[in-house]
Amino acid sequence: MLTPAVQNAINEQINNELFSAYYYLAMAAYCEREKFFGCGRWLRMQSQEENAHAMKLFDLVIARDGMVELEAIEKPPVDYKSLADVFRQGYDHEREVTQRIDALYELAMSEKAFATMVELEWFITEQVEEEKTAREIVHKFELVQGDAAALLELDRELGSRAAATPQPE
Ligand code: MG
Repeated sequence: MLTPAVQNAINEQINNELFSAYYYLAMAAYCEREKFFGCGRWLRMQSQEENAHAMKLFDLVIARDGMVELEAIEKPPVDYKSLADVFRQGYDHEREVTQRIDALYELAMSEKAFATMVELEWFITEQVEEEKTAREIVHKFELVQGDAAALLELDRELGSRAAATPQPE
């Protein structure tokens, strides 16, 4: 069984992951409004990935015979200053998510929730990858600056993101 503190914290993280999905979807909407469909595709896929993160935690609660409690999802921003601003916000967001995952792991440790700790290790590894990817994209936008041809090329590159592979069980 999950302890009440661990169950609450996982439910909170389910909400955080669903917010991430919503946030990236809002970013996709902005990019597509600006006619950068490559960026839009990348962000739509990121949104789906965040939804999968939420479901992984959802499944964890169910597997431990716990109670999933879904809360209202916060409204993400509608407007962004630029494409570079979108991906900068994405990077900042991922760094926040890493802190939340770390805090959740620390709680699981203090509650001696060993099975939860093992599950959370997947998220710890995932965050290293998420931050690395986001940091690299931010760097590319910094290089591009106001160069329209380079911006279109970067949009094309982001649009070539492969579909997510199914998550291992
Ligand atoms: Mg996530």
